Amino acid sequence: PTAFDVQRVREDFPLLSRSVHGKPLIYLDNANTSQKPLSVIRAVDEHYRMHNANVSRAVHLVGEEATAAYEGARDRLARFINATSRNELILTSGTTQAANLVAYSFAMPKLQPGDAIVTTVMEHHANIVPWQIIAQRTGATVKAAPIDERGELIVEKFFELLTPEVKLACVGHVSNVLGTVNPIRELARECRKRGIPLFVDGSQAVPHRPVDVQALGCDFYALTGHKMLAPTGTGALWARKEHLQAMPPFFGGGEMIREVSFSGTTFAEPPHRFEAGTPNIAGFAGVTAAIDYYESIGFDAIHAWEQQLLTYATDRLRDIPGLRIIGEAREKEPVISFLIDGAQATDLATLLDLQGVAVRSGHHCAHPLMQFFGVPATLRASLAFYNTREEIDAFVTALLKVRSLLM
Ligand code: PMP
Repeated sequence: PTAFDVQRVREDFPLLSRSVHGKPLIYLDNANTSQKPLSVIRAVDEHYRMHNANVSRAVHLVGEEATAAYEGARDRLARFINATSRNELILTSGTTQAANLVAYSFAMPKLQPGDAIVTTVMEHHANIVPWQIIAQRTGATVKAAPIDERGELIVEKFFELLTPEVKLACVGHVSNVLGTVNPIRELARECRKRGIPLFVDGSQAVPHRPVDVQALGCDFYALTGHKMLAPTGTGALWARKEHLQAMPPFFGGGEMIREVSFSGTTFAEPPHRFEAGTPNIAGFAGVTAAIDYYESIGFDAIHAWEQQLLTYATDRLRDIPGLRIIGEAREKEPVISFLIDGAQATDLATLLDLQGVAVRSGHHCAHPLMQFFGVPATLRASLAFYNTREEIDAFVTALLKVRSLLM
């Protein structure tokens, strides 16, 4: 029995009822970006119709409303991930900006030649490349903890890498390719014992499960709005207060200063110290609506349904001869990467599109992970709570059809 009515939920997402190439759209590219409910679309529209002004600068009423919308999203996000204070939330354009902020402002000043940053083989490039850039500049190195054939982090090997010269550890909460859920609490506990701060890329976790940064015990947690029903160009970095207090600004400009003069400029307190320039105010109005939407359904219902879909889809795909699923972790979010013997992933994805099925093919911004599995690319079907069993059936039917065209 499902705790919520998926057909009712689908009515909230206008794009889900469109067709492509004359076929009903089956959108299974949710790990890439989620679709948006009407309430989010309306919040953005309403913002521009009624409340559009810049933040923090104006004393006029509309300016105050815009500021309230933007700062309101900070409050909402802080509660959503259980931060101890709204001032621990820096609003960003997404996870990429959040990771780069940690790289340049927190990590780079600490790095000496011979130091190291530890990450894992399964990371998205956003959780690898910023660390490589600052390592190159400082003479530090980046070490990657290995995973096993199931696509699970080898936790003991990760711990072995946590030596005294490590200044930061960086792990994804959920893999965007494999769906693997990493044991963040356990990793955070070991990092803490050794005095190593832990950065968590929560991009693929936040859309699927309740996140409690205090319970996780990490130091930094990054998320991106567009994968969690909100507009593109929104996101956040949560960081412990003591880190933010000690961090110098990264971007300089308006909104992040206390006083500017040519004899010296002083900076605002966190979080505003890290928010130079005009942010995506309307987008953040959408973030508030997105969180409202999640909470109106509840993660218990979302999780139960998504796990049912994941099991169903995995079982149906396993029945296809020559199909190999990449990543069979014991705890997964609803992401399935796979390959079919004798067919190129991109050819399959192109033909699936003609059948109305949107999946992603390619390396998924995770080259080291592709190298680990020895494949150039995979096909990835990533699910959301608004997907249905009937869509999975139609996807499998389409896959069998396009496979026969290629073989
Ligand atoms: N990390 C992970 C695990 C992701 O899946 C993504 C998005 N594909 C990112 C980081 C980057 O997010 P954004 O592009 O929104 O900054």
